[in-house]
Amino acid sequence: MNIPADLLEILACPSCHAPLQANDSENLLECSRCGLRYPVRDDIPVLLIDEALPPSTTGAAGEASSGPGALA
Ligand SMILES: [Zn+2]
Repeated sequence: MNIPADLLEILACPSCHAPLQANDSENLLECSRCGLRYPVRDDIPVLLIDEALPPSTTGAAGEASSGPGALA
């Protein structure tokens, strides 16, 4: 992934407008506030809420949001 630092600086989460952080290992940009994760395709960040991945649960309970309670 090759996102220029000055570009990353002006990008903001389309959902909450917080700064984004590059995640090179997963090839995505992660919101520092709401945790939504935006894929980077051909070094172009896809800043669309519809395309965003839900916040990573790494280090948290893990499957808390995928139980039967999530259906409603
Ligand atoms: Zn956000």
